[in-house]
Amino acid sequence: MSPRGWAVVTLAGLALALVVVTVLLIPWHRPPAPRADQLAALGDLPAEQVARGREFRAALRPGGYASLVVGLLIALALGLTPLGSRLVELAGRPFGGHWVAQAVVGGLAVVLVADLVTLPFSAWRQAVLTRYGLSTNGWAGWLVDLLKSYAVSAVIGALALLGFYAVIRLAPRWWWAFGAAGAAGLVVLLSFVLPVLVEPVFNRFTPMEQGPLRTELMAMAARDGVPVRDVLVADASRRTRAVNAYVSGIGPTRRVVVYDTLLREAPPAEVTAVVAHELGHARDRDVTVGTLTGALGAAAAVVALYLIGSWAPLLRLAGVDSVAQPRAFPLLLALVTVAGLVAAPVQALISRRVEERADAHALALTDDPSAFESMQRRLATVNLADPDPPRWEYLYSATHPSTVERMAAARAYAREAGR
Ligand SMILES: [Zn+2]
Repeated sequence: MSPRGWAVVTLAGLALALVVVTVLLIPWHRPPAPRADQLAALGDLPAEQVARGREFRAALRPGGYASLVVGLLIALALGLTPLGSRLVELAGRPFGGHWVAQAVVGGLAVVLVADLVTLPFSAWRQAVLTRYGLSTNGWAGWLVDLLKSYAVSAVIGALALLGFYAVIRLAPRWWWAFGAAGAAGLVVLLSFVLPVLVEPVFNRFTPMEQGPLRTELMAMAARDGVPVRDVLVADASRRTRAVNAYVSGIGPTRRVVVYDTLLREAPPAEVTAVVAHELGHARDRDVTVGTLTGALGAAAAVVALYLIGSWAPLLRLAGVDSVAQPRAFPLLLALVTVAGLVAAPVQALISRRVEERADAHALALTDDPSAFESMQRRLATVNLADPDPPRWEYLYSATHPSTVERMAAARAYAREAGR
């Protein structure tokens, strides 16, 4: 069988593995809370809070969707016309057109152009956040964050581009196989190192202060059977008023992080409810499962890019002879951009199911549905959420259940517990 034949077989195998993993490891069986309960919860929220959340989300919407559309158009313009391949050539010219320069400088130049085109929409978003009082870092802080994120992406991107095109040169016929393994390995590696190498670039993390709350949280983690070395507090208040918490990392780098804004805004029972939700993620190994599906997806993407990118009409549009050239990188980026937009609703659906399970875990662990519900109300108030967002937007991009769904879940729990 030819390398191409093997690539088709490998892609089918990876797709099957992805389906098996998502069917077996994602909690599909849990039905959402009844709509009647959701509407009752919506009715209990102050009308002006609901209106303000909707107004804020409506103010973000035009810039957000314009950014998606313009980002897609520029990716297609660079990838499906010779524009992008010329840009790669141009970037490599000062280095005599050496493949390393084309691959790394050219690749980063293409990404930078795509980023710069959507930069006005990021500025728009920052302006809206500032106008609504959610952002606290000012334009200088915003710019510093932006430059930091460009720098982090440039380092990770340069290593990935160099590795990818080095593999192509070393194994011209089988690069897609090594590339797929490398992409999967990179996803796993990033999951490990992001919390310790990248997150500290943007925030300072300090162990939570000794006191009754910390003692209670550590006791709860022990009761839950989740070994947590520490609860870390992030200085999120340097850029936002929004409250949040998350788990990241795998094994030795696993941590539960709460925003300092949460500790300031919420009473202890609500912080406990938030951390109980995060412990649910840790207990169900959601980061590990997410990393596994991410790794399988990345491997499948490389093989699919090899197969689709080799299609002659696409190569002609991009003005290149082979998908393996650094000059074909803009074509690959265009395909990845389209795939990302198509996959977004599927990823959002999976994320919502995983978040619902963590909510159910928090309710069972704390057995305090009223604190859980008031925590959800506070999250929505402070973060200016639309408690019951438009259905199409929810289906396309919501990574969490809506506020009214989460409140309704707390009420269903209370009812079942006979309260
Ligand atoms: Zn969560």
